[in-house]
Amino acid sequence: MTKTILITGGSRGIGRATALLAGRRGWSVGVNYVGNQSAAEAVVGAIGAAGGKAVAIKGDVTSEADVLAMFDAVAQLGPLDGVVVNAGAVAMPSRLMDMEAERIRRVFEINTIGAYLCAREGARRLAKSRGGRGGSIVLVSSMAARLGSPSEYVDYAGAKGAVDSLTIGLAKEMGQEGVRVNAVRPGLIDTDIHASGGQPDRAERLGVTTPMGRAGQPEEVAEAIVWLLSDAASYSTGAFLDVSGGR
Ligand code: NAP
Repeated sequence: MTKTILITGGSRGIGRATALLAGRRGWSVGVNYVGNQSAAEAVVGAIGAAGGKAVAIKGDVTSEADVLAMFDAVAQLGPLDGVVVNAGAVAMPSRLMDMEAERIRRVFEINTIGAYLCAREGARRLAKSRGGRGGSIVLVSSMAARLGSPSEYVDYAGAKGAVDSLTIGLAKEMGQEGVRVNAVRPGLIDTDIHASGGQPDRAERLGVTTPMGRAGQPEEVAEAIVWLLSDAASYSTGAFLDVSGGR
């Protein structure tokens, strides 16, 4: 069945791979981005070239007005069926002792507040009691929530820990609303996020230390996200799917 989904941070990395896979499934995709318009348009173009429907939607997940506008924009594709709360960011490696307050606030703003705003808006628009038709919300957490990311970014790890709590609570709130809420916890995945945190070689360098001995690819995370979005996961809610090579 055709679905319409919104993916925050759909322009690059895990979000991009998810958008392309969902497009191949015949789903219509809202591809949110914050600054990289050409990357978002390339994803939209690739979905269109394969016969699918997609639209690029600019918006910062930390802005409530932007979040409302991005959900309004995706409605042009059809009634909403799913949301992937994926946009996230890290900062430079540091111990907590050396972190500025502003950096900690920013990390929580993007990874936690942004996720809460997008999950709230998705819940509002999918809830059957609010006129929605039910659906699926998938939050992209991180293995950092369980490992703590010492000497790199314990702020990010805590921000993702909050996403795990959100998943548990929101799944319980939405059980009678026809909305499933689940999370994936990626491990070391080969995307731009590591370079943006000043460690371009991080996935490759640390990937070899994982039980499977390698970093993961964004496409491998996309498979888990799309499964949780799909009706194949019809009895899964409040669940966590670790995609981390055993890390
Ligand atoms: P990425 O390659 O750096 O891509 C980040 C995406 O998020 C881009 O599409 C970016 O848009 C978007 N974005 C960033 N800030 C935003 C904001 N304020 N509002 C809206 N969009 C924003 O990252 P990734 O590795 O794919 O990570 C995706 C998710 O997986 C994140 O939540 C991350 O924490 C999580 N994760 C990643 C790993 C990993 O090893 N890669 C591991 C665990 C968890 P632009 O293109 O416009 O900049």
